[in-house]
Amino acid sequence: MGTQPDIAAGRLPDSAYAENFSDVHPPLDRKAALVESSRCYFCYDAPCIEACPTGIDIPSFIRKISTDNVRGAAQDILNENIMGGACARVCPTEVLCQEACVRNTQENKPVQIGLLQRYATDAAMDHGGHPFTRAETTGKRVAVVGAGPAGLSCAHRLAMHGHDVVVLEARSKDGGLNEYGIAAYKVPEDFAQREVGFILAVGGIEIRNNQALGRDFSLADLRRDYDAVFLGMGLGGVRGLGLDGEDLEGVHNAVDFIAELRQSDDLRSLPVGRKIVVIGGGNTAIDIAVQTKRLGAEDVTLVYRRGAEAMSATGHEQEFAQVNGVKIKHWAQPRQLRGMSGHVTDIVFEYTQLDESGRLAGTGDAFSLQADMVFKAIGQEMLPLPQANGGAELLEMDGACIAVNEERKTSLSDVWAGGDCVSVSEDLTVAAVQDGKLAAESINRSLRS
Ligand SMILES: Cc1cc2nc3c(=O)[nH]c(=O)nc-3n(C[C@H](O)[C@H](O)[C@H](O)COP(=O)(O)OP(=O)(O)OC[C@H]3O[C@@H](n4cnc5c(N)ncnc54)[C@H](O)[C@@H]3O)c2cc1C
Ligand code: SF4
Repeated sequence: MGTQPDIAAGRLPDSAYAENFSDVHPPLDRKAALVESSRCYFCYDAPCIEACPTGIDIPSFIRKISTDNVRGAAQDILNENIMGGACARVCPTEVLCQEACVRNTQENKPVQIGLLQRYATDAAMDHGGHPFTRAETTGKRVAVVGAGPAGLSCAHRLAMHGHDVVVLEARSKDGGLNEYGIAAYKVPEDFAQREVGFILAVGGIEIRNNQALGRDFSLADLRRDYDAVFLGMGLGGVRGLGLDGEDLEGVHNAVDFIAELRQSDDLRSLPVGRKIVVIGGGNTAIDIAVQTKRLGAEDVTLVYRRGAEAMSATGHEQEFAQVNGVKIKHWAQPRQLRGMSGHVTDIVFEYTQLDESGRLAGTGDAFSLQADMVFKAIGQEMLPLPQANGGAELLEMDGACIAVNEERKTSLSDVWAGGDCVSVSEDLTVAAVQDGKLAAESINRSLRS
């Protein structure tokens, strides 16, 4: 083992960066879209509609593509999901709409719903203008906290209903994890910002950046100044391992490094280790593992404490990581991070198994993995809502998340919430979009009653 950590920028030839971080699923051209759309059976009571969290009428939009009515197809999609462009790129379709496609039973090859959705929404966004017009103004004002998928979806639907919306966003850029979190090769070329621009084109939405709930204003301020409030601030906290050595240099939160990568203008200048260890089993773990490999790391090992079937990353994502050269090691948990001169050098893991009662237990056998960089990806959590003079003490929680009913209404009569910060959400972009939409419809009913 060398004494110095091997962390360096520019591990790859210049041309490799553009290739490694370009569109992972290139778009369909017109001919391919027509052929793919012709594979749809246009099922009555189509199971794919039920499987889409936003309930897009999938057979209807695919039929429109098959008759070259691309704008009509986009309208069908955007009616239910204003971020249909992002979702077409990031939805794990293999466990959502495409899993339900009846073509699976005959050919084991579903209609490529995500790619067709992208074909239609890209055309709508490229066309310019906006497919919706606002209802007559109601004079009601709604505050939305967070410009991520939940907040933007809620803001758009409220604006359509004629309400005036102010979005208060802590960061300097909008889009939430579409801008700072999703893997770079899923949403390349500034797509997140283009989509924000597309959404705002409806009118009636003002975004105020660098405004954080709990720092610059309180929930009580919003309740006083607005007719209704929507909370869509996602999960700002990151779970720690609680182990010795966690504060060594070279040990990072995966989401922080991904945000840095997403904001980098020149990936050649982003330093990455030769040996990487990732701890976790979800989306974030897969994304950091693949992206560090694509930045030129030589050896990337993802370690998860249970078996493959228990990973929250889908089978498709696990396979994608392996195809990219990531090694996945199951049934081991970290016990200690060791270092030299203040920098991590290796991690000690203990093998795990299920005991007689089905609980995870260490076997007592250990091994270690060398690492120049270690990424923690064991989950995010909501930062506690500020209590002092914020009125947040009245907001009922469900565990660490905000409790909401099926309309995404909180325990406060004028406050709604959705996306990752509520307990019912699934930590998917499409689920956050649906939450924002449901909340906006409920707020609209409430403001008009
Ligand atoms: C690394 C990673 C990869 C992912 N990949 C996928 C994927 O491929 N497919 C998929 O479907 N899902 C993926 N997800 C999940 C998906 O990104 C989230 O479920 C979705 O973004 C949630 O939307 P949201 O609006 O609730 O929260 P966020 O996207 O987190 O947006 C919340 C917004 O609120 C702002 N905010 C936070 N606190 C405050 C405050 N106090 N005051 C004001 N503003 C505040 C934030 O700055 C942010 O802009 C991924 C998540 C991560 C972390
Ligand atoms: S939004 Fe996602 S789940 Fe719904 S149809 Fe589109 S790709 Fe499928």
